[in-house]
Amino acid sequence: HAKQQGGGRFCFHTEAMSAAAAEKLHRHIALENAVQGQGFELYYQPQVDLRSQQVIGVEVLLRWPQPDGSVQLPGAFIPLAEQSKLIVPLGEWVLQQACAQLQRWRTQGQLTWKVSVNVSAQQWMAPDFVRQVKDALQQSGLPPECLVLEVTESQVISRPTVARGVLAALQALAVEVSLDDFGMGYANLSQLALMSFQQLKLDRSLVALMATDRRYETLVRHTISLARELGVSVVGEGVETLQQQELLTRCGCAVGQGFLFGQPAPASAYLAR
Ligand code: C2E
Ligand code: MG
Ligand code: MG
Ligand code: MG
Repeated sequence: HAKQQGGGRFCFHTEAMSAAAAEKLHRHIALENAVQGQGFELYYQPQVDLRSQQVIGVEVLLRWPQPDGSVQLPGAFIPLAEQSKLIVPLGEWVLQQACAQLQRWRTQGQLTWKVSVNVSAQQWMAPDFVRQVKDALQQSGLPPECLVLEVTESQVISRPTVARGVLAALQALAVEVSLDDFGMGYANLSQLALMSFQQLKLDRSLVALMATDRRYETLVRHTISLARELGVSVVGEGVETLQQQELLTRCGCAVGQGFLFGQPAPASAYLAR
């Protein structure tokens, strides 16, 4: 009888497990199909020169439209794409599309815009990553100076030697590299000096904190002046208020990005600009 009960419990447990496993498999298949069938969409968010208020570039943000009309944000599927290595072909598609779109805008007259593309650790560390970048530039005809690749600190810290090699190869191509979400991770200042980043993006939590806490304002001001001395440009991300914009400007930050200037939107939304 005990065995039967145990068996019953085991059976129940298996059903619960297989429901979760089936759900995961289902999501994996949906993601794989979307990667193969190009079921993703790219949104673009403006980056603005804080003095002139002119758009000087756009950051590409990945979106996954669903059959029910909703749109999934990267936080909901990028981790799965990373686990399953689908991020590599997906990231390559993003790179190609982003370069092609910016080149289209350039031919329409936006000659001063750059495009920033987020790159995952697995893409960055893939042996043919630099080739992917070259291909995307060649196929689109986009000048390499117009492409900025955004990486995070943890990506660089985990394998510094490989990271340095990739940075050097990209620099040889004249592609810029930006250190994304700076300030909330290790905020390892020696990364800035030892690795040749061209840009630093202040994490939006720092931008928010500097408006409410003088100590953070001091921290941001000195980070910006340090970056400037190292020849690194600074973008403030997550700018939502005029107060934040003014503070950033006063601290010497040249470029801002955030809801104050524009929400991420499909390329078609930029037609009227
Ligand atoms: P991120 O690179 O730091 O991108 C900025 C995120 O902040 C975006 O979220 C954007 O929609 C949001 N944001 C912009 N302005 C504001 C603001 O004023 N206030 C607030 N609260 N948020 C703002 P999103 O689109 O959900 O993307 C989240 C993250 O997903 C990105 O963070 C990036 O790390 C990653 N991601 C996005 N697209 C790609 C991609 O194509 N490839 C890879 N590997 N990662 C991507
Ligand atoms: Mg980014
Ligand atoms: Mg960021
Ligand atoms: Mg961020």
